[in-house]
Amino acid sequence: MNQTVRAVRAAKIFCLNGKPPLDDGVIVYDNKSRRILSVDTWDKLRPTCKVTNLGSAWITPGLFNCHTHLELCGGQALAPAPDFCTWARQLQSTPKVFSLPAIQNALQSLRDNGTAFVADFCGGKAQTVYELLQSSGLHFSLFLEYLGWRQPKPRPLWQKKTAGVSVAAHSLYGVSPQAATTLHAWTREAGTPFALHLGESAAEEIFFENGSGELAKMLGGKLIPKNAKAVGCSSLVLADSLGLLGKRSLLIHCAQLKKKELGLIKKSQAMPCLCPRSNAFTGTKTSPARMLLEHNIPFCLGTDSLASNTDLALWNEVLFLIRDLRPSLSQIFDWVIRNPARFFGLENELGSLTIGKKMIFSVLPEELQQLV
Ligand SMILES: [Zn+2]
Repeated sequence: MNQTVRAVRAAKIFCLNGKPPLDDGVIVYDNKSRRILSVDTWDKLRPTCKVTNLGSAWITPGLFNCHTHLELCGGQALAPAPDFCTWARQLQSTPKVFSLPAIQNALQSLRDNGTAFVADFCGGKAQTVYELLQSSGLHFSLFLEYLGWRQPKPRPLWQKKTAGVSVAAHSLYGVSPQAATTLHAWTREAGTPFALHLGESAAEEIFFENGSGELAKMLGGKLIPKNAKAVGCSSLVLADSLGLLGKRSLLIHCAQLKKKELGLIKKSQAMPCLCPRSNAFTGTKTSPARMLLEHNIPFCLGTDSLASNTDLALWNEVLFLIRDLRPSLSQIFDWVIRNPARFFGLENELGSLTIGKKMIFSVLPEELQQLV
């Protein structure tokens, strides 16, 4: 018997191979390469290798968490805030603690939650975070996040064309329009995804529309130049006018999205990444999820960081988001598996439990079983 072959048996397996789920299914895989060797019902395969029996559990392919900031794991827990600027002031006044054990715990919790892939956004500690991600067993995209209105300079991981590394503009108020277009151009040239936070708060939209409000008060003369003028449009329209929307653009939050702007997303094929629990934590109660669903616009989900969320478990994000929605299980699989697998070009590795793919699975929460 091949000692490296293992199997997992479960009451239901959603392979996401275009066929109905398997009842009493089993996945046989090579434990060394973590590649799937065969998948079928227990009766058909009855493998003789070591089998982990998950009993009544329903399992899915591993999940894609498309927005984290592992760097922020080590700080003191913040309190939910009534609005974004109150939360941001709290974050600013809390000492930053870069903690390796905290990041390792976070990575462990991601694995425990059945995460296959994480898109992390990182500032000054990118080399260390990159090394931790490399050894984590997770697939990842590490975005070197730029914050500040000066022209960006390539950072070492980017200069070295490191696999899995790309660049992101923090937001359109966090960098200058020129800096945003420069970063976007770098990614176009390198063929990597581009990302930015967009429409996270009402304050952000007021700043772009009028050049005033709490965000201007908080950041004017500091992050945002004193002479920065209103652009007279929303963050999404501004991103479009700068040429930042495209099928490789990840738009994080989109919590302020308006119905009349949906066409911009649809036409550009940019991918919104919704973070509903983080938005609620920072005072935004609205969500564009229903609008996006009604207009068949694909999106994905992220937990954001532990500075604005209680955990990095993507299923908890789903359970929170669907309180007011009634999606099908297939739509949920689009958000947390299929759409991001396509966006990040990982469909050959992840995204389904089929022969040759990586053996990374997640256990579907019992609350979601009723959606079948
Ligand atoms: Zn973020």
